[in-house]
Amino acid sequence: MTKASLPLEGGCQCGKLRYEVSMPPLMIYCCHCTNCQKISGSAFVLSATILEPSFQFTAGDARKTEWISDAGNQRFGYFCGDCGTRIAHGQTPSIGVLSLRAGAFDDRSWVEPSGHIWTKSAQRWIKFDDADILCAEQPTDYTAFVERFKSKGCFED
Ligand SMILES: [Zn+2]
Ligand SMILES: [Zn+2]
Repeated sequence: MTKASLPLEGGCQCGKLRYEVSMPPLMIYCCHCTNCQKISGSAFVLSATILEPSFQFTAGDARKTEWISDAGNQRFGYFCGDCGTRIAHGQTPSIGVLSLRAGAFDDRSWVEPSGHIWTKSAQRWIKFDDADILCAEQPTDYTAFVERFKSKGCFED
């Protein structure tokens, strides 16, 4: 497995909106909820959970949109107003973390999900690995995801 180095850098498709993350993510997972399917126009979203203070935009002006999640929470998303790439999701009031679109990191060689959430609305053709952590809806406890991500050793301790 390739080691990742900090800060993590990423940005939108057109390159105007750029960001940095100063600490390793807590976990990476796939979300198959109906909102993620609609927002991405795809089957699921690859999400990297990071501590909110470790994130900053370094170029461009993010636009913001809000909605109610499948679990009933008030969510917001930052995206590039020019090309539309979704960059980060968060919650109001803040729960201290942001969900980054892991596909928008510049280097994605180390990115691998530890499991899947909202599998009850996953597309029927998705094949899950026996080793993956699976949750039918929103987990109340993400400890298993966090520990599995840490055990992959993507970052130097
Ligand atoms: Zn853009
Ligand atoms: Zn989702």
